[in-house]
Amino acid sequence: MTTHPAAALQLIHTRIAAACRRSGRDPAEVRLVVVSKTRTPTEIQAVADCGATLFAENRVQEARDKRPMLAHPGLEWHLIGPLQRNKVKIAVDIFHMIHTVDSLELATDLSERAERIRPLPVLMQINVGREPQKSGVSPEMALPLARAMATLPGIALRGVMTIPPWTEQPEAARPWFQALVRTRNEIAAAGIPGIDMRELSMGMSNDYEVAVEEGATLVRIGSAVFDP
Ligand SMILES: *Cc1c(COP(=O)(O)O)cnc(C)c1O
Repeated sequence: MTTHPAAALQLIHTRIAAACRRSGRDPAEVRLVVVSKTRTPTEIQAVADCGATLFAENRVQEARDKRPMLAHPGLEWHLIGPLQRNKVKIAVDIFHMIHTVDSLELATDLSERAERIRPLPVLMQINVGREPQKSGVSPEMALPLARAMATLPGIALRGVMTIPPWTEQPEAARPWFQALVRTRNEIAAAGIPGIDMRELSMGMSNDYEVAVEEGATLVRIGSAVFDP
C-alpha cells in the first residue's frame, strides 16, 4: 500500500460528492461500504482509524474470524456475498445488514433466526444481467419475492443490490444500474406494507461514480480503498 488510506478515502468521498452535484443529490444519502474481504485485521484497522465505520465481507466465516481482532467496537458490518443456509445463524449474529437475499427459503431462515433478536435489515439481490453464474433473482421475480418477504417478521426489506455484468468501461454499467432502479421503483410502487425500498446497493471501485449518479445509496468499494 503506497497511498495512506486517509488519502484514498478522501478521494472517494470527493468523487462521491462530485457525482452527487452532477445529479442533484445530497451526499448524505450515499454511504461508503468499505469492502474488506481478503484484507487483514491490521489493514482494516488502519482504514477504521481514518474514520470509516461501515465494512463489508463476502464470506461469513472470514468475517467471524476477523471481527474480534479489531479494536473498533462501533463498526457496522454488511454481508455482500452468497449466504449458505447453514451459515444463517452466525450471519444473523454478526452482520447488521445482508445484501444478498435471493430466495424465499433463505429469507425464511433469516427471519426465523433474527426474529428473537431484532428485525434484520436485508436487501434483495437482483441479477440484472441474467448471468447464469451469478446469484440474484431475475428482475421479474423481484416483486413476488418482495411480497413474500414482507410477510416475514424477522427481516426488514430495505432495498435492492446488484453486481452488474463486468465491463472495463464504467459508463457501460449505467444501463444495469438503471435496470436496478426500475426494479426497485416497481416494488416501491406496489405499496407493500412493512417494507421500505430506500436502499440501492450498487457501484464498486471502477464504477461507483456512475452508480451514485444513478441513485446508489450504498457503494461497495474495496480495491480503491486498500490498493489505490
Ligand atoms: C469484492 C466486492 C466488491 C468490491 O470490489 P472492488 O472492485 O474491489 O471495489 C463489491 N461488491 C461485491 C459483492 C464484492 O464481492
